[in-house]
Amino acid sequence: MSAHALVTGGAGFIGSHLCERLLKAGSRVTCVDNLITGSLANIEGLFGKDGFSFAKQDIANFIYVPGKIDEIYHLASPASPVDYQLYPIETLKVGSLGTRNVLGLAREKKARVLIASTSEVYGDPEEHPQKESYWGHVNPIGPRSMYDESKRFSEALVMAYHRKHGLLTRIVRIFNTYGPRMRANDGRAVPNFICQALAGEDITVYGDGTQTRSFCHVSDLVEGLVLAMERADSDPVNLGNDHENTLMEIAQKIKELTKSSSRIVHRPLPQDDPRVRRPDISRAKSLLGWAPRIGLEEGLRDTIEYFRRIGAKR
Ligand code: UDP
Repeated sequence: MSAHALVTGGAGFIGSHLCERLLKAGSRVTCVDNLITGSLANIEGLFGKDGFSFAKQDIANFIYVPGKIDEIYHLASPASPVDYQLYPIETLKVGSLGTRNVLGLAREKKARVLIASTSEVYGDPEEHPQKESYWGHVNPIGPRSMYDESKRFSEALVMAYHRKHGLLTRIVRIFNTYGPRMRANDGRAVPNFICQALAGEDITVYGDGTQTRSFCHVSDLVEGLVLAMERADSDPVNLGNDHENTLMEIAQKIKELTKSSSRIVHRPLPQDDPRVRRPDISRAKSLLGWAPRIGLEEGLRDTIEYFRRIGAKR
């Protein structure tokens, strides 16, 4: 009998790619999502495929899935700064009550569980690049705290279930990820810049654009998730691309690739916006045998093509 995977947040950007990848590998997949930031459009190609089922559930309230489950990927959460600031309480609830429900279900079903954590646990880092051993520099009451602290709490809860009950757990810290199925209006840099460039609008770089991020294409990230479920241990592992760019470089590259006549303009830098971010991925390389393969230009072309196709509606 094929393995059965549950994916929370399965109708989201990363979750929908993961569902697709798991189905291709022959697993049965149950996708649950409350659709506040996820979308049925992301999984429309999966309905009717053998082994796929979808349930609209808010996992902060309860999770009901009949039968056996072998693996749980817990991805549910608003994840862009605009989204989690719009849904601060939902974000805190899914990272606390939602994670508690996921861990309870994993115990009941004797399933292995992988929790999507984030580079945000490192906050505005004072150590660069960020290794898993770094404890972070997070403002507990700032405008990003609902996300950062819910993920930090999630990690603590997972470790408690692992230590107390011997649950088989994995924690992956996901760094900036981009690709097809990001929402045009999720507020993040890559979709903003692409949609602005395609529409001939001003490209809005916050601050002077010298802040850095390291962007990973979603297909690389999803391979990392599957390998982490298979091969990781219970300690956190960073997943992301370790090629670092300034935001100004990203804006210029997108302007060039879209052949846009948009101007690049500056807007105020949001409070607590991390100055730098780049994962140290040596642990993922040695433990999982994983490294990202898709370069920035190839990944951006693919993403631009997606936004052209969907019409870059904002
Ligand atoms: N950013 C920007 N213009 C935008 C959106 C974002 O300059 O239109 C900047 C933002 O201030 C941050 C970086 O791009 O420094 C990445 O932001 P994003 O929201 O994509 O993710 P974050 O890494 O901050 O969670």
